[in-house]
Amino acid sequence: MTGTCVGKEAIGLFGGTFDPIHLGHLRLAEELSQAIGLSHVRFIPAGQPPHRRRPQTAAHHRLEMVRLAIADNPGFVLDDRETKRNAPSWTVETLESLRIELGNTQPLYLLLGADAFLGLPGWHRWQELFELTNIAIAHRPGYPQNQWQEAMPLGLREQFETRLAQADCAHSAAGRILIKPITALDISATGIREALQHHHSPRYLLPAPVLDYIDQHHLYTPETA
Ligand code: ATP
Repeated sequence: MTGTCVGKEAIGLFGGTFDPIHLGHLRLAEELSQAIGLSHVRFIPAGQPPHRRRPQTAAHHRLEMVRLAIADNPGFVLDDRETKRNAPSWTVETLESLRIELGNTQPLYLLLGADAFLGLPGWHRWQELFELTNIAIAHRPGYPQNQWQEAMPLGLREQFETRLAQADCAHSAAGRILIKPITALDISATGIREALQHHHSPRYLLPAPVLDYIDQHHLYTPETA
């Protein structure tokens, strides 16, 4: 299915631990959705992310926080398939299951911040990702474009250069790489967790209903960490 140009509307896939979800995530999804012309974006919280440390917060809390964060946007959808799997969340398997549901001609875009794209060679069967989806890379503060492109390991650079050059038709089902600038918001879940640990308010870095949920459930406070 790689490189086939098709007319269907594209779907965005946005995975993460979302521990917790914040405005950096939401702006990335919103801006890439508009720039690419996505019909909708599926938020896919990781269950047990295998290529990074475990999330601090149980999956049902992270799911609920994403649900609250996207509730007012009909273009955002929650997809809980990874948290339902009682096994590591391999993105390649998530994409395979989506392909079974959506078919091989559906254009898909995996949305990644630049830091996540650089980490791709650590992902299970990562080279196969390009057969299953397009990838849209968003800028992220702390990862200037000239620096992260220079930092790419050889195998990733080869994929990047080949697939960026192929970006010549409206929506292929898979196989293309796009880079899009987005509003630079230097927000991370790590920073929010640290603020809460130190009893500093992360207000205005994440949606108010998500912060209310964190307060109600005493998440990320020193007692629960
Ligand atoms: P943590 O600080 O716990 O590592 P995080 O804030 O990086 O978390 P993740 O859930 O790991 O959030 O990220 C999911 C995706 O969102 C990744 O592709 C990441 O690059 C992207 N992302 C997260 N925050 C931003 C941001 N502020 N700007 C652009 N992309 C972001």
